[in-house]
Amino acid sequence: MSVRVRFAPSPTGLLHVGALRTALYDHLFSQHHGGQNILRIEDTDRTRYNPESEEEFVSTLAWVGIEFDEGPHVGGPYAPYRQSERQAAGLYQPWIDQLLESGHAYRAFDTPEELDEMRTFQQVNKMPTGYFGGDWRDALPEKVAQAEAEGKRSVIRLKVPRGQTITIEDAIRGRLEWDSDVVDDPVLIKADGMPTYHFAAIVDDHMMGITHVFRGEEWIPSAPKHAALIAAFGWEQPVWVHCSVITGADGKKLSKRHGATRVLDYAAMGILPEPLKNFVALIGWAPGGDREVMSRADMVEAFDIKGLQASPGRFDKEKLTWMNGVAIRAMSPPELLDAVVSLTESAHAQAYWSEADEELGKLAPEKTWEALLALAERARTDRDYALAAIVLEQERVTTLADFGLACEFFMVDEVEINVKAKDKWFTKDYVPEMFDYFIHELESGFNVSTNSDCEELVRNYAIQRGWVDNAAPAVHPTRVALTGKTAGPALFDLMAVLGRERMLARLQRARGMLR
Ligand code: GLU
Repeated sequence: MSVRVRFAPSPTGLLHVGALRTALYDHLFSQHHGGQNILRIEDTDRTRYNPESEEEFVSTLAWVGIEFDEGPHVGGPYAPYRQSERQAAGLYQPWIDQLLESGHAYRAFDTPEELDEMRTFQQVNKMPTGYFGGDWRDALPEKVAQAEAEGKRSVIRLKVPRGQTITIEDAIRGRLEWDSDVVDDPVLIKADGMPTYHFAAIVDDHMMGITHVFRGEEWIPSAPKHAALIAAFGWEQPVWVHCSVITGADGKKLSKRHGATRVLDYAAMGILPEPLKNFVALIGWAPGGDREVMSRADMVEAFDIKGLQASPGRFDKEKLTWMNGVAIRAMSPPELLDAVVSLTESAHAQAYWSEADEELGKLAPEKTWEALLALAERARTDRDYALAAIVLEQERVTTLADFGLACEFFMVDEVEINVKAKDKWFTKDYVPEMFDYFIHELESGFNVSTNSDCEELVRNYAIQRGWVDNAAPAVHPTRVALTGKTAGPALFDLMAVLGRERMLARLQRARGMLR
């Protein structure tokens, strides 16, 4: 039997990291087995429906490189793939009729007030809460008929058998068991006629031939209801794969403090899809050996449910940025520059960098955005210069967005000189004379086309001062004059990129700041 898995989000909001991991496991598992991956939109809860959500899911997953073999946007043999459309097409009706006829489901006419009262009673008496039958599970047909004739609103519930053990086999955790007496009777069809998640998901999994269900472990408490429903139909259970929760690196509940939770925000930061996939897949999956950096093909090849862990997976942002840095260093400078340019063309990135967010450590986002725009503009007007700047920063940055501020000093007409750096280095007594020397040499045509030419220029001065083995006193103030900062790419490299005219302008300006 060929493997068929489904990713079945409820379109209520944004695509978060946890859901991305589930979608990724569906993808890796189906690819590993040459099976099919299906996207199903579970939109039967109309009160929580968010019309932008489905598009966010589809486009973000496509950005990450997760495509579906069947789904609302690609079609397929089991269309429609949105549960609201399946309901409208009457696809659930025969199944609910079958359960009512076989006595596995019943109508319940409780009012919301009656349900509240029941819950309070259960709580006060420390009883399990939920609907265990009330007045309707075993109601006489005449009583049901009368309530119907009176036009009372009803829901349809599953008659969970009593006095039994309900069992599922979880591929990660092994056998899980429940006493059926503590499993309440879930609503299958709501008063508005819409199926609940429990009913629609199980029926669809059956109709769509789903063999393995990957979902978050928060669904384990629902599993006995699903098992009871499957048993009521006489179907076989799929293989359940309840994936562990994801916590922050500190073991606490994942929140913005640990990193953005919306997947699209990683695109805005300039995290690349490959390392993001790699990183997310490894949260709770041990592929064996001490493998860390893996391509999509490596992951497809290695993916095995046996490597999935039951204990919480940790979201370690440092690891993500490290992996992204590795990927950035593996790209060619033209590829990187094009990626930076397309980042500046993304409406989401623009929105992301227009809002400060202290929790995320995004303090002056507009500065990053302006610097990125300046770099992208230079890519259009002087591509070689922009590329040369990218080459020097490629080793140092971890995200595409980092290139903005890292390359800023190359792009601006006048660098902003860091006050501390200035106080430390521009106050040395030899500095005015040293800058005069460089200015004179540059004006007299000293060759500065390569980094070794630039090194020669600086060393000549150092040697003249008797700093034979240590050019540092010459290097630091020069770096501050040329870049405004004390850290950055190797001085002679950046000098060669800046070139004579820019160096002259910057040194003259710095010289003007000295007495
Ligand atoms: N629609 C459910 C959700 O969004 C999916 C649960 C499942 O995969 O069965 O969480």
